[in-house]
Amino acid sequence: MLQELMKNISEADMVLIAVGKETETLDLSGQDMFEKSAEFYRESFAELLQDIPEQTTSQQTKAFSKLDFYNRIEKLVKGKDYFVADLSVDGIIYKSELNRLRIVTPCGNFMKLQCACSDKLEDAAPYYEKDVCPVCDICHQKMVPNVYKTDGYNEEGYLKQWNLYNIWLQRSLSKKLFVLELGMDFSVPTVLRWPLERVVFISNTAKMYRVSEKYSQFPPEIANKVTSIPMNSMDYIGELENG
Ligand SMILES: [Zn+2]
Repeated sequence: MLQELMKNISEADMVLIAVGKETETLDLSGQDMFEKSAEFYRESFAELLQDIPEQTTSQQTKAFSKLDFYNRIEKLVKGKDYFVADLSVDGIIYKSELNRLRIVTPCGNFMKLQCACSDKLEDAAPYYEKDVCPVCDICHQKMVPNVYKTDGYNEEGYLKQWNLYNIWLQRSLSKKLFVLELGMDFSVPTVLRWPLERVVFISNTAKMYRVSEKYSQFPPEIANKVTSIPMNSMDYIGELENG
């Protein structure tokens, strides 16, 4: 399994890693997103760069293995012309060894706070530490994590990288592209899933691995270019180490 994957990566000119919601460790459903984010930050995220605490909660374990997931991907693509497009909002990718300039997270990042009334984004860490939600100085409403579920989602947070990503993707049409898609579902298919199917369809030389526990199916038009791997994407990357 690893050998074949490595062969595809080494033969490609460009490698795109597309990460879907299957790997998300931060659940922001329900009412108070600030509250949930602050708890996740204090119990899990802030510990990521330190030693693993003796007593790890399940959330911590998930966060640690997610960091490991990214660092293993970095080893796979090291030295290649790569980009990572990630739908996660847990921000763990920014703690990994992956090159920040080659990362885009179009669904946002809980480490920034926004208010729908302005373009201003604030660094969330000091507020999560104190568990005090800042109030917007313009409209006096509580600020919320800068993630796509919020009303008036402020896309400024990722737009610059998104433009770079699209220029990179355009360039791939005349190159040999390998797409490793990990855990993509149908929650926001217009952002990555469908556009990438189209890129693979148009390109003569593109190849794709679609790894997903539930959604590894693909349209018939790209059948000769896609390898479907019906498996949890975190497990898939985890098991590569064993050969
Ligand atoms: Zn405001």
